[in-house]
Amino acid sequence: MEKTVTSKQMLGELLEKHYKTAIDAKAEGKLVAWATSICPQELLETMGIDVVYPENHAAAIGARKDAMRFIQQAEGKGYSNDICSYARVNMGYVDLKFSEAENIPMPDLIFCCSNICNTAIKWYENLAKVLNIPIIMFDMPFNHTFDVPEHSIKYMAGQIKHAIKQLEEITGREFDYDRFKEVMEISADTARWWKKATDLNKNHPSPLNGFDMFNYMAIIVCNRGKIEGRDLFKLWHDELAAKVEAGIGPWKDQEEKYRIMWDGIACWPHLGDTYKVLKKHGVNMVTSTYPESWTVIYDTGDIEGMAKAYASNYANRNLDYGTKNVARLVKEFDLDGILYHSNRSCKLMDFRQYEVQRRVEAMTGIPSVVFDGDQTDPRVFTLSQYETRVQALIEMMEKNKELRRNG
Ligand code: SF4
Repeated sequence: MEKTVTSKQMLGELLEKHYKTAIDAKAEGKLVAWATSICPQELLETMGIDVVYPENHAAAIGARKDAMRFIQQAEGKGYSNDICSYARVNMGYVDLKFSEAENIPMPDLIFCCSNICNTAIKWYENLAKVLNIPIIMFDMPFNHTFDVPEHSIKYMAGQIKHAIKQLEEITGREFDYDRFKEVMEISADTARWWKKATDLNKNHPSPLNGFDMFNYMAIIVCNRGKIEGRDLFKLWHDELAAKVEAGIGPWKDQEEKYRIMWDGIACWPHLGDTYKVLKKHGVNMVTSTYPESWTVIYDTGDIEGMAKAYASNYANRNLDYGTKNVARLVKEFDLDGILYHSNRSCKLMDFRQYEVQRRVEAMTGIPSVVFDGDQTDPRVFTLSQYETRVQALIEMMEKNKELRRNG
């Protein structure tokens, strides 16, 4: 009888393969790149260049509770603790080069797209300088207007074409445009399955707890241009769709009582604690602002469409867009409340968070709370504050439910 592989098993296998392939590639003398999480990886995939993602890697180190060694190494060298902790973990790793969590080979090429934040520009420029290796930089202007302006799309499309030339020079090989089309098709398809799967959480009950979604995110970052990545998200979608059909919720031993959105990155070093506090009260995180970030969808062969998709990343959009987007999620996912993670690392997102919270509350009437934390620096989070804020959110959500029940 043929053994059925679950998406969870496949997730583990693909992650293991991702890190091993990069280490093997380096050992064989092949080129390895370090890239930002939402960059035009299609170009590297087309050139057959192995890529690892420092943000993914830092998250894995954080989840393994191994971040402090790297953070202290970086801070000891003078990197301020105001710098994003992903960057501090990564700069520490450049020196220490080993974690029990996962290991990545040192890069030969830096590939950076500033659609996630400006911190990435300085972090990756610094890597290229310290390691004395080339950098390909996509300078993605922040969208101060609600829609992505035409000039930004053209600017990004021009940079994609220029990057192809840079890659040809660095590798001494010609860019294969037929292969590029194949990779574009796979990448957009993977993103479609990712969206279809995460959208299934709109059902009541949601078939998934959002903390599992955080785990699957590792693969949408590093395998978006690979057939295995697309297959994983299709399988995940089918499993979740079967759960919806059977009316199965996120937990076997707990009902979904409240549906919330989590704004911001997970607190990786405190993943278990943050999850358990919510689950204990039947609070299910059904969505986040994150899934949309990897919904990089465009038509095959359309470089301007691809440029627009990368320029449209949520983190690169203005306050009006951010507010409207969260209000849309409240409606589409039928949310009872929002939990905002004021992530000390991520200044770009936190800067506007309180204003997004105020506006969304005025638009939708649903309650929300903010807690302090950090994605990988464990020192910034306290469980008691988190519990108190969650408790307050539950009281407000319960009050709303009661009002609805009483008409
Ligand atoms: S966590 Fe925030 S500051 Fe750090 S790299 Fe990501 S977007 Fe930039």
